Amino acid sequence: MPAVKLLHHADVLACIDDAGTEIADGAVAWRDGVIVAVGSSAQLAPLAQEADEVIDARGCVVTPGLVNTHHHLYQSLTRAVPGAIDASLFGWLKRLYPIWARYTPEDVFAATQLGLAELALSGCTTTSDHHYLFPAGVTLDDSIHAAREVGLRFHATRGAMSVGESQGGLPPDSVVEDEAAILADTIRVIDRFHDAAEGAMLRVAVAPCSPFSVSTDLMRESALLARDKGVMMHTHLAEDADDVAFSLERFGCRPGEYAEQLGWVGPDVWHAHCVQLDAAEIALFARTGTGLAHCPCSNCRLGSGIAPLRAMLDAKVPVGLGVDGSASNDSGHLLAEARQAMLLQRVVHGADRFDPRTALRLATRGGAQVLGRPDVGALEPGKRADIAVWNVADVPSSGAWDKVAGLVLSPPRQARDVFVEGRAVVRGGELVQVRRDAVLRAADRSLARLMTFA
Ligand SMILES: [Zn+2]
Repeated sequence: MPAVKLLHHADVLACIDDAGTEIADGAVAWRDGVIVAVGSSAQLAPLAQEADEVIDARGCVVTPGLVNTHHHLYQSLTRAVPGAIDASLFGWLKRLYPIWARYTPEDVFAATQLGLAELALSGCTTTSDHHYLFPAGVTLDDSIHAAREVGLRFHATRGAMSVGESQGGLPPDSVVEDEAAILADTIRVIDRFHDAAEGAMLRVAVAPCSPFSVSTDLMRESALLARDKGVMMHTHLAEDADDVAFSLERFGCRPGEYAEQLGWVGPDVWHAHCVQLDAAEIALFARTGTGLAHCPCSNCRLGSGIAPLRAMLDAKVPVGLGVDGSASNDSGHLLAEARQAMLLQRVVHGADRFDPRTALRLATRGGAQVLGRPDVGALEPGKRADIAVWNVADVPSSGAWDKVAGLVLSPPRQARDVFVEGRAVVRGGELVQVRRDAVLRAADRSLARLMTFA
């Protein structure tokens, strides 16, 4: 039997379990990727005898690893692109599509590793990746191979765009695919990569980019395919006012009604943004258990609005957080999203209507629920050992009285240690499974080439 690993003397162990347990001088032990014990350091002291590694977490708060429910990792090489910096959604997309159309498989690999490195260093242990861009030679395999090297739990989604400008869609015709080919490749990647087992490191979901870039047929066929294969479904919905106007004009209904008509509601569906949902659509999400990936920094960056998060949580809609792609954030730091989510709701509803622990719960347990992962998101015996260790004794956080609230109010810039499935991905603030300089060199090579297409 593999030996136990023991992490002890955390200032606080925030379990994010049903009871919201927080343990002073806390400890957690795991074996073979699974948590076997949680308690005070004194309670778990006997395990030190059989442990092959004992990790001291003095000066740290320990939480479940953060869960990111929405990203476009390929965008990590198009941050702060002139011409897209001050545009709202549709104009921003039109500026970037022609650059994205020039990506090679090497660029997707480099961008994915850059984005995953950023997530890992900032305490994320599970991320989804909405990849909908497949210029010549690019496949979902490129991002999956990149993720395997970094070591995060990865939910790859096979995105798609099929309605180009000539058909009344938003993307240029050069970046759209044939719908039969999209469905065939979606089946291929599910059959090749999807792992439904508990503790899976890799899952695949079906994810047409948005109602304004694919046909009604593809939305409907995608839902049928996903349910036939038993995988989840993801897309963008009701991101801003233009998005709602497009839906009303083209489909004659609001985005939520469109989603419902096509089978795009249910506990196996999560939608990104939903900034512009109305009360009936919120009730629909609640009634059907449809999930939300809330991306507050991206919504601010693109001027999309403030999502009705308080109302959605009050209605018991499943909610997780997402950093969104790095072309519209342009950062990928989930504690920053938690903080932004809290601040925006306070602007709307008042300081007592959104507390830091709720935000932290969304960043962990909430995201796990949205991605259909009851095996992660909490520190409890039987859950997978996905753990983030935050040094709160350093400059950005030192001085916090309530150290759990401080994670959101005065967040550390990075995690000290990050474990996924019990394996170290970050130790002492440095990547373990890939070399930071190699990731940066590959990103620089791709960036230099892509900038020639500006
Ligand atoms: Zn997005």
